[in-house]
Amino acid sequence: MTTKANNQLCAVCGGELQATTITHEEKRDSHIYLFQNVPAKVCTACGEIWIDEEVMQQIDKLIEYGVPVRKVETPVFDFPRAVAPAH
Ligand SMILES: [Zn+2]
Repeated sequence: MTTKANNQLCAVCGGELQATTITHEEKRDSHIYLFQNVPAKVCTACGEIWIDEEVMQQIDKLIEYGVPVRKVETPVFDFPRAVAPAH
């Protein structure tokens, strides 16, 4: 995920960007915030996702002041314990 997309070409590979909506995940401290239907552009060549600076600023505001439509439980794994369970 990279911010700033000002034209129709991918700044990573020069591929064409396609306007779409994505589910965006933003981490703040130990919290994870999910945003559905976020307007974004996806590179048709390399798959890089571009979110406008303006949209990122709105996301920042929503984290501070927004009211979520719902909350989800997030499963958390401690990797070494999860792959080698003691039984
Ligand atoms: Zn690209």
